[in-house]
Amino acid sequence: MALQTIRQETRHSAGPALGHLQNLRRRDFVAGAALIDGGWIASEQRDVVVDPATGEEIAEVGRCSAADMNLAISAAERSFPAWRELLPARRGIILRAWASLMLEHSEELAILVTSEQGKPLAEARHEIAYGAGFLEWFAAEGERAYGETIPSHKLGTLLQVRMQPIGVAAAITPWNFPVAMITRKAGAALAAGCPIIVKPAPETPLSALAVARLAEEAGVPPGVFQVLVGNPIELSAPLLRDTRIRALSFTGSTEVGRLLLEAAGKTVKKVSLELGGHAPFIIFDDVELDKAVNGAMAAKFATSGQDCLAANRIYVQRGIYNAFVESFAAAIAQLRVGHGLDPATNIGPMTKLSVANKCRAQIEDAVARGARMISAKQDESPGPNFVVPTLLTEVTDEMLIAREETFGPVAAVLPFDSEEEVVARANANEMALAGYVYTDSLRRALRLSEKIECGMIGMNTASFTGPPIPFGGLKQSGLGREGSRHGLAEYMELKYVCFGDLAA
Ligand code: NAD
Repeated sequence: MALQTIRQETRHSAGPALGHLQNLRRRDFVAGAALIDGGWIASEQRDVVVDPATGEEIAEVGRCSAADMNLAISAAERSFPAWRELLPARRGIILRAWASLMLEHSEELAILVTSEQGKPLAEARHEIAYGAGFLEWFAAEGERAYGETIPSHKLGTLLQVRMQPIGVAAAITPWNFPVAMITRKAGAALAAGCPIIVKPAPETPLSALAVARLAEEAGVPPGVFQVLVGNPIELSAPLLRDTRIRALSFTGSTEVGRLLLEAAGKTVKKVSLELGGHAPFIIFDDVELDKAVNGAMAAKFATSGQDCLAANRIYVQRGIYNAFVESFAAAIAQLRVGHGLDPATNIGPMTKLSVANKCRAQIEDAVARGARMISAKQDESPGPNFVVPTLLTEVTDEMLIAREETFGPVAAVLPFDSEEEVVARANANEMALAGYVYTDSLRRALRLSEKIECGMIGMNTASFTGPPIPFGGLKQSGLGREGSRHGLAEYMELKYVCFGDLAA
């Protein structure tokens, strides 16, 4: 059945597109299907897409099968030789065209993101620009995949190292950044000369399919960029099994990352994992209070807290503790909870009910163990997926919220006394993605930039991500890097060549 549907153009909506999505200028963005080998397939099996704020069904998408995935793998493999042979500058032109189309359709893409993911529209618009930025940046970086020549250790030889595309790549992407986590992977893969197959999160298929429409329009050849939506286990099994998939990039939970790493080991794939975070946000008492409060607000409540960079343990030095709590509580009280399409909204729903429930369980646990809940107004919650911004103070290291990632708008504040103590507490966790330090002391900043065990550190800033930086974590927060030249290298292999017998 899958075979018959391949290459069938279904540019109309294959399911009911309800509510505000009916007004989209690009109705084909909500056509339920998958892009395989340059064609759109319309499966008879369907899944419903839900607005997490209201529970309303907003669209239906086709559900791809393992057989569809096998077809996609074959198509990707067929597309590889021509794509890798294309001059990097030509690949760059296509990537830039794709980025331009994303920016041109930014408003519609943002509405899709908000509708299925829940984040405030202003943040969704920012995600589209951020996501397009990776395509633009890698368009140029693909031209700089320099190799090396090595001063030889053998007479009459020339030693050369080349960067070569690894082959077909697969991406399993999350729902919290349903556009940018696709382009961060696909931009690097395509720039490196590799086709990529994307399996987006089932909660946010519309954003992924819309991005695929634009890839097609930008001139990405058939098979080079494919998107298949459906059951995660069914669709990932062929990707993991197949030796033709040479690289796997995953963003999501540490639990699933571990499973994928183990399964990918059977066919020795190059795996990059961007997993959970549990960021320490350390505030010393020499800082200006407002700067620390603004930083903590941004680092905690962006993406309604559903961000792997989110400040999860806000350690505040005792000298500034009471003043910080007071100002932080006042700032949190200003946050408006609501539907992401309402311009007044700062905090949208949690995309998944399980994430909202995890927040509630962490609050309950903290309060039961003696934390103070200052600004929670849970009775105002507009629906089951909403978590009203909550501040917990006097949090201790044994509480759940101090031990595991929250992924929601619950801020935990923990007092500390000395630098040595806070470094030890911040590092006493297996999650080590991002960390933040606020201090006015240059010497302390330099010391802590060395001592804090995280893949990325914001030193007196909560804003540091973007295409040129190596995004990734230490310990169980992941493997490999995304963005930057290191992100390109995840889709490349080194080939060493020794030219011998060169002496005249
Ligand atoms: P998840 O890890 O289950 O989902 C991420 C992706 O993996 C999705 O595409 C999903 O369909 C896929 N997936 C899930 N199970 C799979 C399996 N067995 N085989 C193959 N693919 C599979 O994440 P979640 O449960 O939706 O979220 C739970 C937690 O994960 C969050 O609370 C947060 O801590 C973390 N998370 C982190 C990020 C991040 O940016 N690092 C993103 C999303 C979720």
